Amino acid sequence: MVDHCDELLDKIFAYIDQELPEEELRAIAEHLEICGPCEAERRAFERIKEMVSGCPLECAPDRLRERIRSIIGEAKEVG
Ligand SMILES: [Zn+2]
Repeated sequence: MVDHCDELLDKIFAYIDQELPEEELRAIAEHLEICGPCEAERRAFERIKEMVSGCPLECAPDRLRERIRSIIGEAKEVG
């Protein structure tokens, strides 16, 4: 059960890549249905994923990481 948004957001990349156990994927999907701000962040992260297109986050250049942080910041303000 995912109750805490911070905990969920730590896992959101793994969620989008479906790199979590099925139980966790389901728990996160359920949370996203009831939590608007987290759903907004999921959309922001999917945009980021398109930007890095197939490249794991670890190999993203520093500049891209900064951009990712600012997108996350925007999503939080909107939520
Ligand atoms: Zn949430």
